[in-house]
Amino acid sequence: MNSVVQAPTAATASKFTLFPFLDLQAQFATIRSEVTAAVERVLATQQFILGPDVEQFEREMGERLGCRYAFGCASGSDALVLALMALGIGVGDEVITTPFTFVATAGSIARLGARPVFVDIDPDTYNLNPGQIKPAITLRTKAIIPVHLFGRAALMDEITAIAKTNGLAVIEDAAQAIGTDYHGRFAGNIGDLGCFSFFPSKNLGGAGDGGMVSTNDPKLADRLKLLRLHGSRSKYQYEILGLNSRLDTLQAAVLRVKLRHLDEWTMARRRNAVRYRGLFAQAHLEDLVCLPVDPPGSRHVYNQFVIRTRQRDQLRNYLQRAGIPTEIYYPMPLHLQPAFRYLAYQSGDFPNAESASRSVLALPIFPELTEAQQEAVVTAISDFFSANH
Ligand SMILES: *Cc1c(COP(=O)(O)O)cnc(C)c1O
Repeated sequence: MNSVVQAPTAATASKFTLFPFLDLQAQFATIRSEVTAAVERVLATQQFILGPDVEQFEREMGERLGCRYAFGCASGSDALVLALMALGIGVGDEVITTPFTFVATAGSIARLGARPVFVDIDPDTYNLNPGQIKPAITLRTKAIIPVHLFGRAALMDEITAIAKTNGLAVIEDAAQAIGTDYHGRFAGNIGDLGCFSFFPSKNLGGAGDGGMVSTNDPKLADRLKLLRLHGSRSKYQYEILGLNSRLDTLQAAVLRVKLRHLDEWTMARRRNAVRYRGLFAQAHLEDLVCLPVDPPGSRHVYNQFVIRTRQRDQLRNYLQRAGIPTEIYYPMPLHLQPAFRYLAYQSGDFPNAESASRSVLALPIFPELTEAQQEAVVTAISDFFSANH
């Protein structure tokens, strides 16, 4: 602890012990025997590429999402690349997306030589503002990639309507939104293609990298199947240029175990969100921090519980000293990142995304988070504001 800066009050410090932002060990403790049995079963076969576990996991995910086809791949980033490749998107094409997201959303577009065209977000939901999409459409536009950021569904009715009118494809970046539903359909099963990530910090996280692309279109499904296997339908015959992007058998076996617990974990995340709302209301903090919007007709799965406040950086420093873990998703919007400088966007182009980057703060929301830990979080936030007002 830095002795120069002001320490948290004794009252706050005595109420909790340190805990991580995401406690994967707490989760593993509840499923250890199931996971190790699955891993040992795969090790015993010594078959590590595709195989029955991947096929069954794909079937289970397809059933859960209500989609006809689901293909495992190496990561969520690859899922986006594969989806774009399945649509034939490349050099000379434009794809509209949000600048307030993880780098892979726009990176996948750029990697294929297409141009990411950013449009601003809605300030309250952090998702693409459909009203901004139409003015960004040109003759080169081929697709829109909405992101269901933090686990909250983007406005898919409006986005798919714009896409339909303009002959554009919709690729959903559902990396943070497994289990999110929107007007009776699951995120990732609303547009033409859905992309999922099994990175360990997602709501369904593997023991390493993994991803999935879903679709209901048999033609796109056929291309996806080829693309992840070097474009090959039969051994050493290459119909199209693809890549090596498969979901490991070991990952599929672990994910099948964890998928059985996903609903209970999602419910726990939602329960934790309700508890935060209650605690923030009790502490009369609603005027000082803006809580995430839980929309009617949709189910937010809270991959992140993101609050907003003007004093974000001071609050975060204070919480850090009080032993409360937080994260910032995302501290710099993509249009201002050096990697995208060639797109020639400027500061001020997307004010809502830029303002969000300065004011958002993610609080711990993992399923195993205890009520006492949540109380410690809100007490520390309350202490910060009483000391600063
Ligand atoms: C995690 C994530 C990805 C990429 O997933 P990886 O599996 O880490 O490659 C893409 N988009 C968003 C919004 C993400 O959160």
